[in-house]
Amino acid sequence: LCYSCNAMKSDRDDTDFRQMNNAYEHRENDCIFCNVSGDRIIAENELAFAIKDAFPVTDHHTLIIPKRHVEDYFDLYQPERNAMQRLLEECRQEICKKDPSITGFNIGNNVGEDAGQTVMHCHTHLIPRREGDVDNPRGGVRGVIASKQNY
Ligand code: AMP
Ligand code: ZN
Repeated sequence: LCYSCNAMKSDRDDTDFRQMNNAYEHRENDCIFCNVSGDRIIAENELAFAIKDAFPVTDHHTLIIPKRHVEDYFDLYQPERNAMQRLLEECRQEICKKDPSITGFNIGNNVGEDAGQTVMHCHTHLIPRREGDVDNPRGGVRGVIASKQNY
């Protein structure tokens, strides 16, 4: 803790936060998102990076990925969420600059196999949408249960 935080806790908190930096370095050898080659990275900051989805739902479908190997969104530390949030915003701006036909986005995380997750390293989908890309877009991400999309 820094001097003033410790003082506010009456000098009783001796938590050693230095381990946190090691935690951020965690990678898994057999994980595809822990082993993305540098030339595929389209945006990056200290704790997260972005790549194009290999099987895009729409043009410019992008994945925002924490560098630390964690299974899903709920395992993230807040600084990683902030880092991913910043990349979402950066990528959105870049994609819209490149492609003015984009009129909307779906943003989403699949958490767990039962919710459709196939790569067990957390990632947020940034999926550009365009007017008329499906007959009736109403409900958007509600479409994860197809019969409930339109309400
Ligand atoms: P999810 O089903 O949420 O786990 O999404 C995994 C996403 O990763 C899918 O949209 C895939 O198209 C994408 N994907 C799978 N393998 C790769 C890869 N090697 N590089 C980039 N994207 C990938
Ligand atoms: Zn991983």
